[in-house]
Amino acid sequence: MSENIALDATPLEAASPYELRINLGKNLPETDIRTALATGDMGFLHSFTTGSAVDGPGIRVVGWTTGCMWRCLYCHNPDTWTMSNGIPVAVERAAEELRKYRRGLKVMSGGFTLSGGEPLMQHRFAVKLFRAAQAMGIHTALETNGYYGDKLGDPELEAIDLVLLDIKMWDEERHRRLTGMSPEPTRTFARRLAANGRPIWVRFVLVPGLSDDADDISRIASFAASLGNVERVEVLPFHQLGHFKWQKLGIPYRLEHTQPPTVDAVNQAVRLFRAEGLTAF
Ligand code: SF4
Repeated sequence: MSENIALDATPLEAASPYELRINLGKNLPETDIRTALATGDMGFLHSFTTGSAVDGPGIRVVGWTTGCMWRCLYCHNPDTWTMSNGIPVAVERAAEELRKYRRGLKVMSGGFTLSGGEPLMQHRFAVKLFRAAQAMGIHTALETNGYYGDKLGDPELEAIDLVLLDIKMWDEERHRRLTGMSPEPTRTFARRLAANGRPIWVRFVLVPGLSDDADDISRIASFAASLGNVERVEVLPFHQLGHFKWQKLGIPYRLEHTQPPTVDAVNQAVRLFRAEGLTAF
């Protein structure tokens, strides 16, 4: 893909988040970016996709933000790591996109999910957009690694009906090797969501040879069960759909020869979560 994509030549809506998108916000002056982040009046989005049945309850519209502070070895969307790869979108425009779908989302018991990238890199924009969605009667969900959860005040948590919390691994050192960062802020955010009575769906990516240690999974399960607000756990099998993005971006990819987990391995991980009394799929 050309590095000189005209800004308004790229539609906000994408067929899937696996479209490679780069440099869509690169011409925006640095001061505008800083103002956008400080006010939340504008956000950076890879795209909007519609019709998702896997990003929260019902059928959902998903906004994919750009910008992430982690570097997960299995990331499916490394083009979303850099904020300026995204399209600069005014919060009103993003809300108008949602307005188009609000009746259908209600009929399909769905809603709006903000994913990424890491949406809390743009927490003010996220909260403004969630509040606009809720004002239209749209259910809101945030998919996050939780690392910047402390940026949200307690009243802001109420703009989020459900948190899809990605818990990657328990062991500190292995978590750092996988993501580049400590797991502790994610756990702190999970505890805070529990204290505030905000529901969580835990998402756990199962990667053979990387995140399939039974003891590590059991520790995540035990932690999740102790919270009391985890409604379900989703074990997501690793896949290679994002591999081509690493190649196109010229980023060394270490999981080239890693296979998706077997059905048995996924079932075993699900059993470890269920053993702690959790609802897991
Ligand atoms: S937290 Fe998500 S977006 Fe960020 S690097 Fe990890 S998988 Fe990719």
